[in-house]
Amino acid sequence: MQYEAVIGLEIHAQLLTDSKMFCGCSTKFGSEPNTQTCPVCIGMPGVLPVMNKKAIEYVIKTGLAVNCNIAPYSRFARKNYFYPDLPKGYQISQYELPLCEGGYVEITDNGASKKIRLTRIHLEEDAGKNIHEGTGNYSLVDLNRAGTPLMEVVSEPDIRSPKEAVEFMKKLRIILRYIGVCDGNMEQGSLRCDANVSVRPSGQKELGVKTEIKNMNSFKFIEKAIDYEIKRQIKILNDGGRIIQETRLWDSDRGTTESMRSKEEAHDYRYFPEPDLVPVEVEQSWAEKIKAQLIELPDSRRNRFISQYGLPQSDTEILTSEMPIAEWFEKAVKLGGDPKAVSNWIMGEFMRLLNEENKQIDECALKPEQLVGLLKLIDKGIISGKIAKTVFEEMYRTGKDAGEIVKEKGLVQITDESAIEKAVDDVIAKNSKEVERFKAGDENLLGFFVGQIMKATRGKANPKIVNELLRKKLSAHTA
Ligand code: ADP
Ligand code: MG
Ligand code: ZN
Repeated sequence: MQYEAVIGLEIHAQLLTDSKMFCGCSTKFGSEPNTQTCPVCIGMPGVLPVMNKKAIEYVIKTGLAVNCNIAPYSRFARKNYFYPDLPKGYQISQYELPLCEGGYVEITDNGASKKIRLTRIHLEEDAGKNIHEGTGNYSLVDLNRAGTPLMEVVSEPDIRSPKEAVEFMKKLRIILRYIGVCDGNMEQGSLRCDANVSVRPSGQKELGVKTEIKNMNSFKFIEKAIDYEIKRQIKILNDGGRIIQETRLWDSDRGTTESMRSKEEAHDYRYFPEPDLVPVEVEQSWAEKIKAQLIELPDSRRNRFISQYGLPQSDTEILTSEMPIAEWFEKAVKLGGDPKAVSNWIMGEFMRLLNEENKQIDECALKPEQLVGLLKLIDKGIISGKIAKTVFEEMYRTGKDAGEIVKEKGLVQITDESAIEKAVDDVIAKNSKEVERFKAGDENLLGFFVGQIMKATRGKANPKIVNELLRKKLSAHTA
């Protein structure tokens, strides 16, 4: 029997507001436990929540970026459950009236594009964190995270493979980072994903029974966990069993999903409208104002880079993957850099150096105008392409201009024929054996000679002149 996988994701994104959703506490990550709390976010009796307008704005912004309808009227609700990281005994969330509905995210898989529809985006508050450490029979609770604004994006079950799930998540992450509403840090948990997975016989319309998988904190784990879960379900069905609707935990050490609890239903949570908060009314003019501030999104920027600068698709994928990279690229081009040359430098040396230090492009000293300066030196033949790499790295490390580095280090290309000729003669004189072999037909040795000359001139000889002179001299020898 052939099976088809059906996947829907529920993605939680912590919003980049300075303060929490319903109080003034800081949302900063990594502080001493329980130092960013107040009576509101630790759920003291009698306190009243106050909405964070910025958080609502960020959800509207996200909704507009992914083509949702923004609800003119929405409402918060209490989701009741008992857990030590939830001091109030309920989470303020949204239930029957979320801020955004509909919309879609477009993904590309093997060149084909596909729309993954969204069900809704709503706003809620994050819970604290339980810390299980040591061997004592206790757990610790850190409430710094309790009350952090959390946006939940729910997809329709439109995803058909682990790879598509990852593409969807990556695309959403890029958009959230672009518009500046979430830092997308999956390791620190500011972006989290639960995957709902079911399988059905190919061709069947009706959906199969799903399980929900939690605890995947990287793209790699999302792919692996869903892949494992699909295979697990197919095996059960092939063995004549039934899938039980439940929540399962991904265990990255074992590479498996393990049953955690039977699935809770909405009615288990006793949802009811939050009586301490007024409904949210979004005026059309506010939504329009937010829309006007939306910057160019990754997809349209990518298409523009292709049509405007004639770049290959693969270049534009990387250049538009982060807004600061796209901005850096475009600034260099506006300053006169050749688009493809700028792109090559960014994708090659620049990315390599940034990755080495785990740095972002806008965190480093090297500015677009400096790359343009380097390109000019190459174009004018003042430095060779090889030397340019050295200069680039030096610019990256020191933030100095290319011209300054070239002068300081004496890296100007040698184009004086007589100087190069001397080096060529030396190398030929010192390597008579190789010259014999070359004469006997071993043409591959040309590279060896070029290498020796470059070494002797510390990489500064103009390669074109070196090649010309070498060929001339060596064939003269042959004659
Ligand atoms: P629940 O009420 O159990 O949380 P929802 O209907 O709210 O379920 O859907 C939660 C997520 O599960 C959504 O992303 C949805 O697309 C997805 N989903 C729903 N049914 C299925 C299914 N049969 N297989 C896979 N995913 C599903
Ligand atoms: Mg749900
Ligand atoms: Zn607080």
